[in-house]
Amino acid sequence: MVIDFHTHIFTVSIMGEGFLKGSEGILEGLDFVGVGPTREAWDGMLKELGSADLDQMGAVYLQTKSEAGIDKSVVFHVDIAGLQADMNYVEANRWFAKFAQDHSDRVIAFAGIDPHRGKEGLKVFEKSVKEWGMKGLKLHPLACEFFPNDKQFYPYYAKAMGLGVPVLFHTGPVGHMKMNYSNPVFIDEVAADFPELKIILAHIADPWIKESISIVTRRANTYLDISGGQILFRTEPDRFYRTLKLLLRSPARKRVLFATDTLGTANSFFVSDAEWVRVVKGLASSRYSADIPVDQNDVDNLMAGNAKRLLGLI
Ligand SMILES: [Zn+2]
Repeated sequence: MVIDFHTHIFTVSIMGEGFLKGSEGILEGLDFVGVGPTREAWDGMLKELGSADLDQMGAVYLQTKSEAGIDKSVVFHVDIAGLQADMNYVEANRWFAKFAQDHSDRVIAFAGIDPHRGKEGLKVFEKSVKEWGMKGLKLHPLACEFFPNDKQFYPYYAKAMGLGVPVLFHTGPVGHMKMNYSNPVFIDEVAADFPELKIILAHIADPWIKESISIVTRRANTYLDISGGQILFRTEPDRFYRTLKLLLRSPARKRVLFATDTLGTANSFFVSDAEWVRVVKGLASSRYSADIPVDQNDVDNLMAGNAKRLLGLI
């Protein structure tokens, strides 16, 4: 079984024109490390996102995931309070909740809320879990420009703990956004202050891989989703395999989660979901870092078992 713990469905209707234009820096960054798509492929993807509506993209998403052999995936809205889009954040979250309800065997939805929305956002969060059946909270400190350890946002963590759902934080730089907000070290304090709260550090967060691993190996309430690792895999396969294999030998091996971070577009821009599944599944038999033996059972847990336990599916 394969569970993809980090996915998106983006359209202009929920993200607005501004967000997609602002993603330009991503292309430059990927180009620099040699894994970028061509300008044509990138523009093609933006066009696909701009012309499709959510229901259409949802159908493409299900198709892409199923072709890649992904049985279940966690999906969420990225809410950025300053952005203008046709659908507001409540409607967008409602759509994701309904998408998960309509495909309950395949899709799990987390609420995506910019915590700058304060008390109003907290109410929406509570409603999304209690009434709409959402299973967690996604926060994006980078895009929303906040530090996770800022005490004004602690009510969100307290609420998640009360509702018994995990909080997933984006970590690591993206495009032209101010990278300081995405440093995982600020999440360590939250994990210490809320030892009962399950916290997922999203992405391998290069250039802070060591920081992420240090947090996740020391704190039993923290998890790491490996989405974004595709770039490391493409550019430095030896470091990619070594990092992942060492993680599977560490106390964090029960808390590492397979994830893609892909948008559900047919047009995937550097490693397809299918290839990513194959690469990570084949970890134990890779010729890289053959000096670090890995138990297949730990790989299976990475692909699905750890996510199942975290989400209470077993
Ligand atoms: Zn993401």
